[in-house]
Amino acid sequence: MGHVLGDATIAELEAGVTGSVVRPDDADYDDARRIWNAAIDRRPALVVRAATTDDVVRAVRFAASEGLPMAVRGGSHSVAGFSTCDDGIVIDLSTMQAVNVDASARRATAGGGTTWAIFDAATQAHGLATTGGLISSTGLGGFTLGGGIGHLVRAHGLTCDNLLRAEVVTADGAVTSASPDSNQDLFWALRGGGGNFGVVTSMELALHPVGPTVLGGVIFYAGSEAAEVVARWRDVTADAPDELTTLVNLTTAPPAPFIPAEWHFKKVAVIAACWAGDPAEGGPVVKPLRSLGTVVNDLLGPMPYLDLQKLVDPPWEAGAANYFTSAFIDRLPDEAVTTWADFHRRSADLPVQAELHIHHLGGAMARVAPGATAFTDRSSPYIVNCLARTPEPAMLAPHRQWAIEAREAMAVYGSGRLYVNFTGEGGEEKVKAAYPPEVYARLQQVKDRFDPQNLFRYNQNVQPSGGTQKSAS
Ligand SMILES: Cc1cc2nc3c(=O)[nH]c(=O)nc-3n(C[C@H](O)[C@H](O)[C@H](O)COP(=O)(O)OP(=O)(O)OC[C@H]3O[C@@H](n4cnc5c(N)ncnc54)[C@H](O)[C@@H]3O)c2cc1C
Repeated sequence: MGHVLGDATIAELEAGVTGSVVRPDDADYDDARRIWNAAIDRRPALVVRAATTDDVVRAVRFAASEGLPMAVRGGSHSVAGFSTCDDGIVIDLSTMQAVNVDASARRATAGGGTTWAIFDAATQAHGLATTGGLISSTGLGGFTLGGGIGHLVRAHGLTCDNLLRAEVVTADGAVTSASPDSNQDLFWALRGGGGNFGVVTSMELALHPVGPTVLGGVIFYAGSEAAEVVARWRDVTADAPDELTTLVNLTTAPPAPFIPAEWHFKKVAVIAACWAGDPAEGGPVVKPLRSLGTVVNDLLGPMPYLDLQKLVDPPWEAGAANYFTSAFIDRLPDEAVTTWADFHRRSADLPVQAELHIHHLGGAMARVAPGATAFTDRSSPYIVNCLARTPEPAMLAPHRQWAIEAREAMAVYGSGRLYVNFTGEGGEEKVKAAYPPEVYARLQQVKDRFDPQNLFRYNQNVQPSGGTQKSAS
């Protein structure tokens, strides 16, 4: 039975906020409650579309005083569905997307609900960027707080490595700042520990000269040669300079105009690459990536960084059911490659979208000291991400299982730790599987200090050490 809120109570909240409050009987309620992953269908009691930090303060205080569950929504791309809840309050930050670039200081400040499309457009106007998502509709909020792996990760580190300062509304409704100079423990925890500690209403990120033209794009290979392509990709990228970030994706070719018609709906191995330095210097470095097997189509070349950041948006629009699961791995022996290619062979065909990614990590990300941030695992040179996506939620279960089995088969080649941002479900055992024990213990200390009642629990939840009966499910 949900918590019943009186009209007068809601009206008081409404009168106090600059943004808006959406109730279940409002015409835009279904729109307001919908998140990216259609497998998650929840009915919050209220959605507060916050427009200012003060709105967030009011919404947090309201949820706390009414004893309501509370979810925070940035870009709404949590695959586990953490940006919504049943019978509680959703604090929706999606109108807080102002980006201010200080080009001379190479920094930008962005509202807590900013998406990568907005951020990248603002920073690229100055020829600057920071490590961002592969899909431009993803939010900076959850992305940065969980870590942030993108096309610039080897050149410029994780997104959280570029976080310089955050404005945070904590569980008591206070507005605080976290940076190397203030609340260092909170600042440490925000860089990898997710949304456990408060609502980040704005974040300041370091920028780097990137583009506007980079050498980037994708090369499609015949899926029947997946094992050879993955093994050769591993070998040619092993000593790659930091400017080069790549991933290999075993999947099925969509019926897209840039793929020869005879390859539509056929299995393919796709290399995605970004050379973040001078495109002319990158030519010889990326050359070996062009001959890993039978090329279906080579679309790797000079392109605007902004186009690269949107290149794979179309197959990842909101509205389908999705599941992701991941593992950091240390090595990729031939037997692992064979296993991976077997999972690819067994994967479903379109309209089910099944993808097996291996991201090449290392570079700048690996040079940050292990305990410097709460991010899971910096030493592993690879992370595998197994993705299943179906047009209807009812179809998802067997493909989700396929993804879980693929992950399990690969997790043995390293720490096997989950990456919180690529984890399609919550639960204490999943969160503990994401962090080394000493990192989890330290996260718990910060949780105890900033959110001992676990008000912020719709996330990869770190439980306060005093224990709480409150969980997100
Ligand atoms: C299509 C797609 C592509 C992706 N690509 C990548 C990728 O390239 N690299 C990568 O590393 N990850 C990627 N991810 C994973 C992504 O980083 C996580 O899903 C991330 O949590 C999304 O952040 P969000 O703000 O969009 O999501 P939301 O669902 O809004 O939030 C996710 C979590 O963060 C919390 N949160 C969000 N904003 C704030 C805030 N301002 N303050 C406090 N808490 C907040 C929420 O409460 C929730 O717990 C991708 C996910 C999808 C669905």
